[in-house]
Amino acid sequence: MDDCLFCKIAAGDIVPDLVYETKSVLVFRDINPQAPLHVLVIPRKHISTLNDLAVDDAGLVGEMVLAAQHVVAREDYAESGYRLVMNCNGDAGQTVFHIHLHLLAGRPLTWPPG
Ligand code: AMP
Ligand code: ZN
Repeated sequence: MDDCLFCKIAAGDIVPDLVYETKSVLVFRDINPQAPLHVLVIPRKHISTLNDLAVDDAGLVGEMVLAAQHVVAREDYAESGYRLVMNCNGDAGQTVFHIHLHLLAGRPLTWPPG
């Protein structure tokens, strides 16, 4: 996708503050962090929203969650706690239309979310 910000990051055209990568996913710091640890896990493959996931993407979504788990363990937030969030479309406030998992940690996170 030529005009997709996260595809540009995946292609290396925009350099993120990278914290972890695998063959399938990248993890980098959110440019506008909402917690002491706020990173985004993205697949290298372009998928616009959660609504566009196919059955064949199940493994990829699992890899995204496992990448988040890896960063949590490395940054020592496994016991204190953390939150994983995926926003979909307007009511959830999705602004970048390439799926991404927010990983937030390092402060008490209120519930319900805003
Ligand atoms: P969402 O609102 O769920 O679509 O989240 C998009 C996230 O991408 C926001 O938290 C933004 O702060 C973040 N973001 C936007 N541009 C960049 C960028 N160039 N590098 C890192 N994070 C970004
Ligand atoms: Zn994309």
